[in-house]
Amino acid sequence: MLKEKVAKLLNQQVNKEFFSAYLYLDFSNYYYDHGLEGFGNWYRIQAQEERDHAMLFVQYLQNNGEKVVLESVEKPTVPLSDAKTVLKEGLKHERYVTALIHTIYDAAYGEKDFRTMQFLDWFVKEQGEEETNVENLLKRFELFGDDPKSLYLLDNELAARTYTPPSLVL
Ligand code: MG
Repeated sequence: MLKEKVAKLLNQQVNKEFFSAYLYLDFSNYYYDHGLEGFGNWYRIQAQEERDHAMLFVQYLQNNGEKVVLESVEKPTVPLSDAKTVLKEGLKHERYVTALIHTIYDAAYGEKDFRTMQFLDWFVKEQGEEETNVENLLKRFELFGDDPKSLYLLDNELAARTYTPPSLVL
């Protein structure tokens, strides 16, 4: 069994990860609606990854004999005004999720819950990568997004992304 505070935060994270999946599906739909199918594909894969993250938190809680309580998933209300704003919102959201992971890590550290810290290590690294990926995408959009031909090429490149399940196995 885990300490109550840590278990509660891990449980909340299940909901946060499902919300991330929902948010990124919303982003994906926006891009498909606006003819940027590569960006749509890229964010659809992000949504799949977030769902997998949620499932990893579920599995970890269950592996530790904890009951998982599912809450309602919030409706995404992030304004999707243009293709670049969506990426900016994506980066903002990843930074928020990083802060959430760090909060759980901090609680686990305070409780000397080394097992949870070890479980979260993968997520700490993953968040670093996620932030870098969106930062790079945003940078490239700022460089090429205003030129239709370049945007077309970038969109084509993103269309080639395929889904890979998370490397963390519990
Ligand atoms: Mg995640």
